[in-house]
Amino acid sequence: MKTNRPMLVILSFFFFITHLTSCSGNRENQSADPSGDPGYVIAIHGGAGTLSRENMDENTEREYLDKLAEALEAGEEILSKGGSSLDAVQAAIIVMEDSPLFNAGKGAVFTNQKRVELDASVMDGKTLNAGAIAGVTDIRNPILGAIAVMKNSPHVMLAGNGASEFAREQGLEIVDNSYFHTQRRLDAVTRQIEQDKQGTVGAVALDMDGNLAAGTSTGGMSNKKYGRIGDSPIIGAGTYASNKTCAVSATGHGEFFIRWVVAYDIAALMEYSNLTLEEASGLVINEKLVGAGATGGVIAVDRHGNVSMPFNTSGMYRGYVKSTGEKEIAIFRE
Ligand code: ASP
Repeated sequence: MKTNRPMLVILSFFFFITHLTSCSGNRENQSADPSGDPGYVIAIHGGAGTLSRENMDENTEREYLDKLAEALEAGEEILSKGGSSLDAVQAAIIVMEDSPLFNAGKGAVFTNQKRVELDASVMDGKTLNAGAIAGVTDIRNPILGAIAVMKNSPHVMLAGNGASEFAREQGLEIVDNSYFHTQRRLDAVTRQIEQDKQGTVGAVALDMDGNLAAGTSTGGMSNKKYGRIGDSPIIGAGTYASNKTCAVSATGHGEFFIRWVVAYDIAALMEYSNLTLEEASGLVINEKLVGAGATGGVIAVDRHGNVSMPFNTSGMYRGYVKSTGEKEIAIFRE
């Protein structure tokens, strides 16, 4: 029988293309809402590290779970009314900055000079606008400083006194450094208590308009040399958001997260290698960082509403809620 070669080539090419597009569609949409509408999602973290149930009493565990729930609720309230992912990220982070439980705002860790120096950043996935503050000692809510830099200045990052002066001009609340101090963190820096080093906070969200945003706020690492800046205020390292791919907020050993460009690497793996959110974040946290000897984790949400929260430590304070009602709040590896 005589075969029609040109026709065969055209047909195989057609099948190849349809197979390719259906595969990538399925991969991206893995756990999205079956209706095709991802709705809204917010995920938060309160730091990763050596956290174990044996070393945490029931009351403390309950306090953390309640505060994580309160932060999620603050963000969800905004998203459920059609508010922006950026506003939701801000609201969730403020709850955690105001709580002495976390290493951000009140209750942040001390430097080797027994003062508190704070870093924060934010990114808007729709516009790719971003803002950050670093090494500030007096802005009550550092995330508000980062948002003000993004919205009301031509810059992406302000540090130290310049950041404080800008925040004051913006009408943000300025406090004495002692406002941030807690006995627990003072003990941690004096006695080098490992478990009391954790608590960087972060939030990522997808709103009902399909816009992603991410924010991170921290006191950095306990006993850090004064002047040290970690990954949290660095766009691409501790925080990243693009509507093309995902929103990411990181926590962990900042010196590694900066060099491995963690948050952007996850987005880039999705964009250029067609990995799913789960695959990309898992590869970076559980393979690349583990290989490098770095500890930490991320929370991430993609444009379809998928959530991923990998960490390579024994625990990470974390949680998410979706408009579908799906919800999780956890501390340990369960
Ligand atoms: N990534 C933060 C820093 O290195 C610390 C942390 O997340 O625990 O400043």
